[in-house]
Amino acid sequence: MYRLGCNKLAPVARRQAGLFSRMGHTTATTKLFIDGQFVESQATEWIDVHNPATQEVVTRVPKTTAGELEEAAKSAQSAFGEWSRTSIMRRQKLMLDLQHAIRANTDALAESIVREQGKVLSDAHGDIMRGLQVVDSMAGIPEYMLGTRLEVAADMDTYTVREPLGVVAGICPFNFPAMMPLWMLPVALVTGNTLLLKPSERDPGAAMILAQLCADVGVPRGVVNVVHGVHETVDFLTSDARIKAVSFVGGNAAGKHVYERATQHGKRCQANLGAKNHAVVLPDANREFTLNSISGAAFGAAGQRCMALSVAVFVGSAGEWIPDLVERARGLRVDGGMEKGADLGPMISPGALHRASELVQSAVDAGASLLLDGRGVRVEKYPRGNFLGPTVLDHVTADMKCYQEEVFGPVLSCVHVGTLEEALALVNANPYGNGASVFTQSGACARRFQTEVNAGQVGVNVPIPVPLPMFSFTGNKGSFLGDTNFYGRSGVNFYTQLKTITSLWRKEDAKVDGQSAVHMPTLH
Ligand code: NAD
Repeated sequence: MYRLGCNKLAPVARRQAGLFSRMGHTTATTKLFIDGQFVESQATEWIDVHNPATQEVVTRVPKTTAGELEEAAKSAQSAFGEWSRTSIMRRQKLMLDLQHAIRANTDALAESIVREQGKVLSDAHGDIMRGLQVVDSMAGIPEYMLGTRLEVAADMDTYTVREPLGVVAGICPFNFPAMMPLWMLPVALVTGNTLLLKPSERDPGAAMILAQLCADVGVPRGVVNVVHGVHETVDFLTSDARIKAVSFVGGNAAGKHVYERATQHGKRCQANLGAKNHAVVLPDANREFTLNSISGAAFGAAGQRCMALSVAVFVGSAGEWIPDLVERARGLRVDGGMEKGADLGPMISPGALHRASELVQSAVDAGASLLLDGRGVRVEKYPRGNFLGPTVLDHVTADMKCYQEEVFGPVLSCVHVGTLEEALALVNANPYGNGASVFTQSGACARRFQTEVNAGQVGVNVPIPVPLPMFSFTGNKGSFLGDTNFYGRSGVNFYTQLKTITSLWRKEDAKVDGQSAVHMPTLH
């Protein structure tokens, strides 16, 4: 039984000492969460997590040992039997409690995100809220789990039930430290699975707080376990026979490895990968609205969103608006994530900053015009931060490296075409397919775009068309491996399997027996 009412939760911020420990007098370490306990890893190798604005080491993350991974898998496996048999009403109630607990602790979560990931505070709150919406939607789990039934012959019924898979694993990227675990954890748990979660080794703090909140609201021990690391941990999660399904979100190289290894070991796998998202701007679009939308979607979160707009395709005379767009980009404030008025914070690492800067240079060398150069931007209070200011490249062509590769930074490539057909051809030839948007006042052009574009998530006057969790996240082409998408009904399908039962209860065997029950059943 879970006894803690959420109203009794002390804010996690006050209890974070329980999640971290001190190694000597130096840096705090991030613990493992195994079998309901936060435990210090016995790892011999550790990864430093740096605050991207200051380079201060904020925590050290263990490369979980083989023995600890085994403990976590054993715990998840042994918790599965009882957890999978808990009533749907109890699991629904836990979602409602978790929803409440996350809301009550958004400040602690957001501060952890800013400290480890670098994004600005308001955006960190957005990270949490978009994840929380998945919890909200999973509070409606009874509806999602309904089966079908048909009387197929006299006294014979065939019906379907959705059953959990067993132990499942989630592997997360760095860019949404709360939302990514929350794409996985609520759906996996509410459908009756037990979970091994691996947050990004670059910013595990939010996932640790979520684990604490799960424990606080009464998720039984073993149902959620958090392990850390990179290669060995991922290889364990994609090969251990107890693990039945793997959810992955991250870059292409790791994603392909995870998908191939997990499927070779007979597991279900859903893998969301990299992206190159285009906005097509037609000359009849609302100019102010369009330019504001593109600026926010290209440079917000320092471009480190898988749905960031990284290419703006200007059709015909719409290209004349680019100087206005540059002025908007120039007006954005680059600063530490906790600073008031900051629009974009630092990139995750010096390596990411260096790579993005090199891609900008490669475009310039290949003939693109650098209209706004964010390299070398100075941020007074944070001289050591990984800052790249908004950068705008014009006359980018499809053969340039900065067009072909995902920059994952605040860099917008502008491309000019003559017609909507040319714009569609460009977007459709791109190997990625996370998102594409059109800006226009013409219903006919919008309709043609949405019908003919080959991208999984389409925006019409919407720059970042990420579906809310009553739908699913439906990237396609090179942005997705697998066939069952994250969250929403697809997410429930991913974490469950159908069982079809045919039963015969013959009328002639029906007997009335026993006494009537007069109380109202509570079903808990
Ligand atoms: P990443 O691929 O470096 O890391 C993702 C996960 O894989 C991490 O947990 C990491 O520990 C692990 N990993 C990294 N390298 C590995 C390797 N060689 N072998 C095994 N595991 C490995 O990704 P990232 O840099 O953390 O995140 C950014 C990427 O994620 C971008 O490409 C972005 O587009 C993508 N992303 C995609 C979506 C989407 O929904 N399509 C959402 C968010 C982020």
